[in-house]
Amino acid sequence: GFSSIMLSGMGVELPPHALRMMERISANSKNLIAIINDILDLSRIEAGFLQPARLPFRPAHLMLKWYEQIRVLAQQKNISPTFTLSPELPLVLLGDEDAIGKIVTNLLLNAVKFTPAGGSVTLTLAPTPDLSYFQIIVTDSGIGIPAEAHDYIFEAFRQVDQSSTREYGGTGLGLTIVKKLTDALNGKIALVSAPNEGSTFTISIPLQTPTL
Ligand code: ADP
Repeated sequence: GFSSIMLSGMGVELPPHALRMMERISANSKNLIAIINDILDLSRIEAGFLQPARLPFRPAHLMLKWYEQIRVLAQQKNISPTFTLSPELPLVLLGDEDAIGKIVTNLLLNAVKFTPAGGSVTLTLAPTPDLSYFQIIVTDSGIGIPAEAHDYIFEAFRQVDQSSTREYGGTGLGLTIVKKLTDALNGKIALVSAPNEGSTFTISIPLQTPTL
């Protein structure tokens, strides 16, 4: 927080070399917070504290919230994410909006992270034709994932290429959290991706609506 204040120019005017150091402090603190949050999320799930909620939520509200969460990061890479909410999806669903939100934000953050500047990232929420599931579909035009990695990237601390930590940062925990939360919600994950052809993650979660 204090490093952000210093960088915003509201604190002391910093000489250029101090400004660069402050930028490093700020970026590294954000990475550290992200790592701690991932570890906490995973520990909570593994400790069995995840009793999925069955509460009403409005997908349209969540879409706006998720858009805000990703907007600045995407803008920095000259990416304008496209969000689509199917009109076929009921206005109110029953489920665990926190768990669904963690799934979506992890997928969106990866989509932006692994897509070069100027690429595309989309999020679609839509029901299956028989209305038995609703699907969260996140696509990107990024670096893609080779077929042999499609299973192991969902394991804790695994990355396609361990050198990716140096290039892209991250801990290899995001997709583990996505997988465990999807399992807890009785959902399914499908991945379509190939090197340099982008990636599409589809999460299907049983669709439930509140009874009046
Ligand atoms: P992290 O992003 O912290 O490395 P994740 O568990 O979220 O960890 O992802 C594991 C690995 O899967 C990433 O390091 C990357 O190699 C690969 N990956 C995930 N999402 C994408 C994506 N959208 N495009 C390309 N590779 C991806």
